[in-house]
Amino acid sequence: MSDYLFSQITKFIKSHFPHEEFIPLHAPVFIGNEKKYVLDAIDSTYVSSVGPYVNRFEEMMVDLTGADHAIAIVNGTNALHMGLILAGVNRGDEVLSQALTFVATANAISYIGAEPVFIDVDGDSFGMSPESLRSFLNGHAVRRTEGTYNKSTGCKISACVPMHTFGMPCRIDEIAEICDNWNISLIEDSAESIGSFFKGRHTGVFGKIGIFSFNGNKTVTCGGGGALITNDPQIAKHAKHLTTQAKVPHQWNFVHDHIGYNYRMPNLNAALAVAQLEQLDTFIENKRRLAAEYSLFFKDLDIPMQKDMDDTKSNYWLNAIVLKDIDQRDAFLEYSNSHGVMTRPIWELMNKLPMFRHCQTDSLENSRYLAERVVNIPSGYRPD
Ligand SMILES: *Cc1c(COP(=O)(O)O)cnc(C)c1O
Repeated sequence: MSDYLFSQITKFIKSHFPHEEFIPLHAPVFIGNEKKYVLDAIDSTYVSSVGPYVNRFEEMMVDLTGADHAIAIVNGTNALHMGLILAGVNRGDEVLSQALTFVATANAISYIGAEPVFIDVDGDSFGMSPESLRSFLNGHAVRRTEGTYNKSTGCKISACVPMHTFGMPCRIDEIAEICDNWNISLIEDSAESIGSFFKGRHTGVFGKIGIFSFNGNKTVTCGGGGALITNDPQIAKHAKHLTTQAKVPHQWNFVHDHIGYNYRMPNLNAALAVAQLEQLDTFIENKRRLAAEYSLFFKDLDIPMQKDMDDTKSNYWLNAIVLKDIDQRDAFLEYSNSHGVMTRPIWELMNKLPMFRHCQTDSLENSRYLAERVVNIPSGYRPD
């Protein structure tokens, strides 16, 4: 019975990727100016952390997101690390985030020496639940003049990092309002949501800082890369300074006024990023068409999918279906991966990983439900 269902699904997926032997989850496509710009960067000898493509990339990110400033960073994880530093998170602080996320979110919090606290997600968006955030703060937090503190641990809660899971915007306006009320810095992990909009505004602009990733598996890739966006000119200035070893500008002297980082994106990668960003609309239109076709198909099968709410426009980075239970999920993973279709389960919850097992969580009711049932299916660009 199940095998029949699984063969229907894999057949449907294969019909959409007729040219692939083994259909990957998401492969990069280079069908624009990628080679031209990369060769140009090499010819110019500007391959490292300064160069015209870095500037152009930053301008394109400003245009796309509507943020006042964008800073190119070497990858998304380091952009998150930098964002947390710039938001003023200190060693020993707590940062509210999701248990259902890619490990980089929690890792970046740990780089600071801060502790993640894992809040539940919504069942439809798979992103942080404003309801759960509000009830966690009402139950566990206390406002003082210096900020918001966790009553049970005594630690300062200095930031909140929600994540737009698989490109689907979470209820970020409500989260921003809650963070405002509690005087907690909001940093959006928009690593997966380039080109995704919530109520007409690009993800990443709702709080103090937003970050993006351009890793090889993402919607737009430059091999490895990241970006940080903000409307705060001081943060933007500081971001550029800290990511370039905090060197005091001078023609020949090497003087540094802060512990700095080598986090700038090389011009070589920026060349690739610029060429890819030029194609963002094409990529997203292609991916949204696939998502719409999946949506009709899985509706007929009564298999729920993660899909847009009325006020969201997702990039549909990775399509996600929700199977009946963990046994059906495992059987489907086994079947599809041995029948030429790459699929994978959603991430293990952060609080189940050895380094984060001790961290505080709320009930994580939806996170636990989804962690056992969600499977990603091939979602890459299809050539016409
Ligand atoms: C990809 C990703 C990152 C990290 O980005 P890198 O560029 O790979 O360092 C961070 N958070 C989330 C949610 C991601 O999916």
